[in-house]
Amino acid sequence: MRLIESPGRILEGSSIRYTETETVRTFASEFSGGMRQRAVIAMALACEPEVLICDEPTTALDVTIQAQILELLAEIQEDRDLAIMFITHDMGVIANVTDKVNVMYAGEIIETAEVERLFENPKHPYTRGLLESIPGSQSGEQLRTIDGNVPTPTESATDCRFAPRCPKAFEECTQIHPELVPVDGEDEDHVAACLLYPEDRSTAKAVEYHQRKGGGDGR
Ligand code: SF4
Repeated sequence: MRLIESPGRILEGSSIRYTETETVRTFASEFSGGMRQRAVIAMALACEPEVLICDEPTTALDVTIQAQILELLAEIQEDRDLAIMFITHDMGVIANVTDKVNVMYAGEIIETAEVERLFENPKHPYTRGLLESIPGSQSGEQLRTIDGNVPTPTESATDCRFAPRCPKAFEECTQIHPELVPVDGEDEDHVAACLLYPEDRSTAKAVEYHQRKGGGDGR
């Protein structure tokens, strides 16, 4: 196998102490979880990308290594002026490292906002359910969950994908596909795909707005 031209530069950029015999010729199975993650980051940076996509970058790492990996990514972002997209289920990662969040449900973006705003004032019932299910600091506190299951790809979907599990669902939710709309009717920086919004309108007017925006048939 041909080795990359300057493995030391790339590995050291990812905080791996480099010696050719010790590191480049080591089998992946001999690396710790943190080292493997750093090696993958080094590989991803080898072609000097402008965007780095990190899919669950801290899963299966202990909290100390998680913190080191996130710190490393933050340093790399600053040094290289990179855009980084995180895909994660970890609310702590989202709160600590992101500027803007897209919340997805069943393959669709259902809420978008700046990170502080999303945590302070979540609007979509699914986002609220997710944030309420984070374990609290009070011992003995009952952990909240979202009833039901995510639809499978082969399941015929109702028009709002979340309707079968939504505590706020009403009749039109199973007839009209919600579009992403500004939650307050104006600010395009905080949008949600839910028939309850824009919140400055009655529910009937909001439903009409989604119908119009979706082309009348809801899709
Ligand atoms: S559109 Fe209806 S079912 Fe869907 S999230 Fe909003 S209230 Fe719930």
